[in-house]
Amino acid sequence: MSEVLTQAKPNDKEKDKEEKIYDAIIIGGGPAGLTAGIYLCRARINTLLIEKALPGGQAILTEIIENYPGFPLGIAGPELMQKMEEQAVGFGLKIEYGEVAEVKIKEGREDKEDKVKMVKINNQEYRTLTIILASGAEASKLEVPGEEELRGRGVSYCATCDAPFFKDQKIVVVGGGDTAIEEALYLTKFVREATIIHRRDRLRATKILQERVFSNKKINFAWDSLVTKILGKEKVEGVLVQNKKTGKEKVISCQGVFVFVGNIPNSKFLNKLIKLGKKDYILTDDNMMTSQEGIYACGDVRKKLLRQVVTACGEGATAAFAAQKYIEELKGVSYK
Ligand SMILES: Cc1cc2nc3c(=O)[nH]c(=O)nc-3n(C[C@H](O)[C@H](O)[C@H](O)COP(=O)(O)OP(=O)(O)OC[C@H]3O[C@@H](n4cnc5c(N)ncnc54)[C@H](O)[C@@H]3O)c2cc1C
Repeated sequence: MSEVLTQAKPNDKEKDKEEKIYDAIIIGGGPAGLTAGIYLCRARINTLLIEKALPGGQAILTEIIENYPGFPLGIAGPELMQKMEEQAVGFGLKIEYGEVAEVKIKEGREDKEDKVKMVKINNQEYRTLTIILASGAEASKLEVPGEEELRGRGVSYCATCDAPFFKDQKIVVVGGGDTAIEEALYLTKFVREATIIHRRDRLRATKILQERVFSNKKINFAWDSLVTKILGKEKVEGVLVQNKKTGKEKVISCQGVFVFVGNIPNSKFLNKLIKLGKKDYILTDDNMMTSQEGIYACGDVRKKLLRQVVTACGEGATAAFAAQKYIEELKGVSYK
């Protein structure tokens, strides 16, 4: 008899887990997902956040964030994100770890049960009434010979993670936007010399960053230039650069190549369930609703003008509020 009972317990737990229907599942624990979590949990919505790595997202990759309001002296990226996680968990956000591989919706009758959506990680399937897609983006690659082979052996996409390995060495930074310039400035605390290689004849970065980078003695520039190859056998030894205007090629010798040439959205796992725009960013309306009812998207994974922590947080809040209204309508109740 006791044997039967001990065997029955884990099965029941598994069954409970599978049968449970969350009100909201958030995919991704960066600034957008954690903010959505804060809003949903304060509204006492039964919410689960699923994260494939560590909560914090891309913001933990940068040493200092100077443009998030409320921190006049700036705040370290990891510190800001740890605070956001603490705040969300403090309001009761449950976090599960795993990579979402698929999202499915049930087609069928117009009742509550048929509004249920499925979120799959490994062999586990979670059920929910709403989904908030906050899976962000990751660094674009240069897609040139040598890049993949020398990744981790001189090729890097994260200055905060790798800068100390390049103490007193010569590096290049590829890109001309805010991230490239911020990270180049940070790298000069470690390296002897940095060359910024940019495909245009001027930077896209914010003016205050331009002022800093142009007055930094350790930084020089290769304008109108494209990296066509990363050179080296065991480690990076240089880059082959082509001038777009003259067509001339030259080698810049260096030990490190830091690449900041934009992002690609983490939207592949949606497998055409949701309408995507150019470069596979998710399309939404003003309330963050995607092409599927009850599925919202926020942050860097969305098609939009400005990809920053502050915009990700704002959209996370809007998506959460819109999801809350949808859940209330579906259940015919108000949480307020
Ligand atoms: C080097 C660097 C410096 C930056 N500096 C600044 C700055 O100074 N100021 C500023 O405002 N912004 C800065 N940014 C941009 C800022 O970090 C992003 O705009 C912001 O993090 C976007 O937040 P997000 O929540 O939309 O996505 P992300 O931060 O990308 O978070 C998405 C999360 O989703 C998870 N995820 C992805 N796919 C899945 C999946 N299938 N299943 C489960 N989890 C998944 C990821 O692991 C990640 O944790 C910087 C970015 C970088 C890379």
